[in-house]
Amino acid sequence: MRTWAEIDLDNLEYNINKIKELSHDRDIMAIIKADAYGMGAVTIAKELSKMGVKIFGVSSLEEGIELRNNGITNDILILAGTFNEELEDAERNNLQVTLTDLSQIDYIYENNLLLNVHIKVDTGMGRVGFTVEEGKKAIEMCKNKSINVVGVYSHLSVSDESDEESVSYTKKQLEKFKYFEKLEEIKYIHILNSGGILKFSEIPQSNLVRAGIVMYGVYGEGVIENLKRVFTLKSRILFLKELKEDIDISYGRVGKGYKNELIATITVGYADGFRRELSNKGTVEIHGIPCKIVGKVCMDMLMIKIPEEIKTKVKIGDEVIVMGEDIFEKSKMVGSSIYELFTGLSRRVSRVYLKKGKPHIVNSLIGKL
Ligand SMILES: *Cc1c(COP(=O)(O)O)cnc(C)c1O
Repeated sequence: MRTWAEIDLDNLEYNINKIKELSHDRDIMAIIKADAYGMGAVTIAKELSKMGVKIFGVSSLEEGIELRNNGITNDILILAGTFNEELEDAERNNLQVTLTDLSQIDYIYENNLLLNVHIKVDTGMGRVGFTVEEGKKAIEMCKNKSINVVGVYSHLSVSDESDEESVSYTKKQLEKFKYFEKLEEIKYIHILNSGGILKFSEIPQSNLVRAGIVMYGVYGEGVIENLKRVFTLKSRILFLKELKEDIDISYGRVGKGYKNELIATITVGYADGFRRELSNKGTVEIHGIPCKIVGKVCMDMLMIKIPEEIKTKVKIGDEVIVMGEDIFEKSKMVGSSIYELFTGLSRRVSRVYLKKGKPHIVNSLIGKL
């Protein structure tokens, strides 16, 4: 293998149990949209299911159908709203849908669709959903038309930030949502995402949490204390050279002045999801030592300078930790978030699922290995 993501299933299970505890034993909806944040939705769903997770959240109809086509029988909610013309397929695949518009209620009624719906209320995210007043009306309308409302929910926009202004905004959102906690006839009432689980689990409202990135032991503010890190991106040394000539390194010649240095070429590039902004400044880790990236990150490879202390140790084929504990730092360096680095992992990066530190499942471009 050239480049692979290691996903530690024992740590994932540890985190799920911790999340359960942190959220005062609420039910967990595992959010596995965007191919489970790059971790591989089908495998992650199967494993989470074994760990006792009963409900999944995805973003689109296709993501839901992908899970159904692969034998996932759990409850699945499509989070990001649906177009009316998708509702028949949602019904056929037994996917729960999010309603964000009153006209959808008429559509479901007129077409006799048997759907379990969640009413989405916008308490301050400013993305999709009903106002609180409209939300009440939507629930009423569904009741009158015998549409099964199994959930009502809202989404927090700054729950993962700790500054005073953000905390007060989140509190306002939670306050607005309070009305819905009283609706005992609705099975699932949910508002807490990862940041919410970590910081606002003491609120009385809601009986279900939506756990996304927290499952992997990281979130908006970095690595989470008391949880375990699940993800590591690894690659290998393909080539080693001591630069005999005064040549520049990589496209654009920005890697200059490395004559007589030992330079290694690593088999990871921006087409794997390793960001080009890390050119000439990021590091990767070999034998426990950070090694500076020199020159531009290429599509499939990058070059690093081997530090003095490991010069005699390194050899072709050696393992390289490309992103691990430092993923938060790297996300900041590229002006982005851990979410974007996770979801940017491309298809050709093999996913290696570990149990007891050993490969348990390996999914690659050419199938299971
Ligand atoms: C993506 C998403 C989540 C999960 O967010 P995290 O920050 O990863 O926990 C929860 N709810 C909704 C509606 C989402 O779109």
